[in-house]
Amino acid sequence: MTGSSTLLSWGENSALVDCGLFQGEEELEQRNWNPFPFSPQKLGAVLLTHAHLDHTGLLPRLAAQGFSGPVYCTKASRALVSLVLQDAAQIQAEEARYAAKTGYSRHPDPRPLYTPEDARRVLKMLRPVPFDEEGELFPGVRFRFRRAGHLLGAASVEVTAKGADGERRTWCFSGDVGRYGVPILKDPEPPLAAPHALLLESTYGDRVHAREDAAAALEKIIAGTFARGGMVIIPAFALGRTQEVLYHLSALVDQKRLDPRAVFLDSPMAIDVTDLYERAETEHDEDLAALADGPSDPLDPGRFNRCRTSEQSKALNARTEPAVIVASSGMANGGRVVHHLLHRLGDRRTAVVFIGYQASGTRGRALVDGAETVAIHGRPVDVRAEIRWLHGLSAHADRDELLRWCRALPGIPGRIFLNHGEDPPRKALAAAISAMDGWPRPEVLRIGKVIASMGLDHDAHSPADCQEHRFRCAGSPRRRTSL
Ligand SMILES: [Zn+2]
Repeated sequence: MTGSSTLLSWGENSALVDCGLFQGEEELEQRNWNPFPFSPQKLGAVLLTHAHLDHTGLLPRLAAQGFSGPVYCTKASRALVSLVLQDAAQIQAEEARYAAKTGYSRHPDPRPLYTPEDARRVLKMLRPVPFDEEGELFPGVRFRFRRAGHLLGAASVEVTAKGADGERRTWCFSGDVGRYGVPILKDPEPPLAAPHALLLESTYGDRVHAREDAAAALEKIIAGTFARGGMVIIPAFALGRTQEVLYHLSALVDQKRLDPRAVFLDSPMAIDVTDLYERAETEHDEDLAALADGPSDPLDPGRFNRCRTSEQSKALNARTEPAVIVASSGMANGGRVVHHLLHRLGDRRTAVVFIGYQASGTRGRALVDGAETVAIHGRPVDVRAEIRWLHGLSAHADRDELLRWCRALPGIPGRIFLNHGEDPPRKALAAAISAMDGWPRPEVLRIGKVIASMGLDHDAHSPADCQEHRFRCAGSPRRRTSL
């Protein structure tokens, strides 16, 4: 989970699919400082599935260590990645300065993981490629992005190349798969080519999201909180989740159940991202297209209060009337929402509504797990507020939706590898996939593990020797199962 990155190589050529930052437990985040297990100077290219930091956040470090591009992504991803990486570099610079000033770091001279200059360098390498069009990664190696529905610009990517035996094979990388039938973005679309191998995310492989009506659930929480004179604080990922929350809040406004003047979007990045969503008309689903440009446009700049400056944000501390504050970050590990939590977690009238994945080791995870106190800025804060977690607003497909996405593939993959998930969901998803008629048992990946080689000929060895590939080999010993 987090730190998504897969190295592909063909002889002298190599490319990464994603270059993500590790986030969560300190031990995990320490990995961000490790040298890359390959030479960044020799790396030929990067393919990005989407803009989230756990898929892009190490790109500036890759560039600082000698990688010189190109980085292929969708057009919308390029715009989002620019915002995300510059913001990440800025935060790291501030944290390093703060650590140096206060002396809380173990290092005598704390440095950021990378600088804004490193981020700017890699942004110049971004090369947008439209959805559904083929691009050339290297001579003879093609790729194509397909809509994944997880975030504006988010893609699954197909990579097709000739194996050592001259046969063309496709590897498919799901990226993060979004949800079906939720507002704003188009639904996930399956890859066009039947993959020989599939790398599939497994974030919610052990969970089926409750089919709660997100707007109804939010309304109930807001009504209950407002009735006791409290604030509703929604820690929201600036990318994607914020826009979906605004959509649902906007529906409540239309039903005259919420006063838009009581809603504050308190995150400069979320404001910028909302404007990008608003402009990306080709990616809007029917629900949003029907509202856009009308009086009920949920993403319109005038729909809700926007706090761009820190003064506007701080002014919310003095507010005594009930309000809904939507602020980053989604796991409450940083950003302005931390200040709102510091100010209001101890107040029984407050409700804090988490709406997305909460990684282990984050403040958000501690709160949804029922922590009685959490540390904020180095001091313990008692948790008296009501803590809620709405899974229905997740950006990730649940187990059934991942299976639905798999079934829509044009063919059953020869091998499946599960990544991007903690152990329990990966195991549960592996069991669910292998229970599907004719599907192989997925293999669970480990960090740093070499997983397979294109052109590997399974016919060369007996099924008995072939523990790793036993399902394909045992089932059809004469069939070519090369990857
Ligand atoms: Zn993501």
